[in-house]
Amino acid sequence: MLSFEHRYATLPEPLWVATSATPVAQPELIAFNAPLAHELGAKEIADPATLAQWFSGNQPLPNGQPGALGYAGHQFGNFVPQLGDGRALLLGEVIDQNGMRRDVQLKGSGRTPFSRGGDGRSPLGPVLREYLVSEFMAAMGIPTTRALAAVASGERVVRQLPEPGAVFTRVASSHIRVGTFQFAAARRDETVLKALADHVIERHYPEAANAKDPYLALLEAVVARQAVLIARWMSVGFIHGVMNTDNCSIAGETIDYGPCAFMEQFDPQKVYSSIDQGRRYAFANQPAIAQWNLARFAETLLPLMREEGDALVEQATDAIRHFEPLFSAEQRRLHADKLGLEAQSEQAESLMEGLEIQMHQGQMDMTATFDALTQYAASPSDERYEALLALTTHPDELAAWFKAWEVVAVASKENERFAAMRRANPVVIPRNHRVQEVIDAAYSGDFAPFHTLLGVVTQPFDESVEARRLAAPATQSEQVLRTFCGT
Ligand code: AMP
Ligand code: MG
Repeated sequence: MLSFEHRYATLPEPLWVATSATPVAQPELIAFNAPLAHELGAKEIADPATLAQWFSGNQPLPNGQPGALGYAGHQFGNFVPQLGDGRALLLGEVIDQNGMRRDVQLKGSGRTPFSRGGDGRSPLGPVLREYLVSEFMAAMGIPTTRALAAVASGERVVRQLPEPGAVFTRVASSHIRVGTFQFAAARRDETVLKALADHVIERHYPEAANAKDPYLALLEAVVARQAVLIARWMSVGFIHGVMNTDNCSIAGETIDYGPCAFMEQFDPQKVYSSIDQGRRYAFANQPAIAQWNLARFAETLLPLMREEGDALVEQATDAIRHFEPLFSAEQRRLHADKLGLEAQSEQAESLMEGLEIQMHQGQMDMTATFDALTQYAASPSDERYEALLALTTHPDELAAWFKAWEVVAVASKENERFAAMRRANPVVIPRNHRVQEVIDAAYSGDFAPFHTLLGVVTQPFDESVEARRLAAPATQSEQVLRTFCGT
């Protein structure tokens, strides 16, 4: 069905280690992303039973050549020289309809040489969560890995308590991370490092090959993609939760939807992840953390770069510093869109700062706030103005901000600024309590709520009654205060 190639597998071991999947007891297809399969070149889609066999790892896909990838990583700031795919297997690469090479990977398919103590499996909950959130990000146009399939394993995995298991199939531009470079660099074998860097240039940044120093150009290109990515995350309130260097994609995609969550009541210091005790990966820290991760990436490339001594360090430092203007430029653009202002508006930043203060002190739901502004821009009315004010505990202050905004906002149903505003402001996000509701239902065998929510979050600008029902913020008793890792 998919026509695999195996370019990554030609890189030296242990960047890639041949490994096979461990069959599961009773694979049953939960979901399959047919449009994505077509994008990946599939002509026809096999029947559900066959898909379940393939995408659980029970039967090898024709021409698949499974292997686990080696990588290292800084986890919460501490370097771990060997992590690697402990519960994932790369099946191979496909060339998609746009001519792009994409990885297809099983996750939860059993132990690998990198598993250490783990069982190599995945509980059903995190599989459903990754499916929903990554497909929402894709629908928002935010670079991300994609969900191709979810298969129930018919087995239980034991975490705190026994839970049903599942296998997830993830598609990525590649699974090469900052941690992959750290893994290669830590071996102090320049041929391995160079092979990896050349592979990445050819695959993701071919224009870098023509630069005076291709490895410096590679660094600059990765910095640029990460800057855009993090600005887009922030624009929808996304908190990754575990921005370790092993979860930082060289291709600039969102990867590893472990304890991630979307901010509801606006608070720049918001953290949901239960394991982030030091609040290292709080919402507002994300740009600085990405930059820190990129500095670790730069360190791995130094031996390959042309300059030497102080000039080398200066050059790499400049490349990392460049993150800030790139991030700010993307953020300014997104802020103008979110507020329905002229693309080049001078006021975007001060108005956004003002609104963030309002959202924070008025305990306003971030998504609902921008949606209410968008609805007002679509057709201004007293009713819609009141609906916005109803979102805050400080209506007088918000009313003052609103006056300042209204005189410069230009988006209206009649112009293209409105289209940009709507696109920047989803009606619905995968809210934590909705995701939890879907997982709870699935644990009692009912997958209908999962499919309903998937349909809604992959049409994030749909204003139907069903979408608006699932878009509503959690009531006090529904609120999810903590999220957990997928392991
Ligand atoms: P993650 O938090 O999913 O990014 O995983 C961090 C590291 O732990 C990676 O090297 C994973 O491969 C490994 N790991 C996570 N869960 C498991 C598991 N259930 N079995 C084996 N290895 C795991
Ligand atoms: Mg990870």
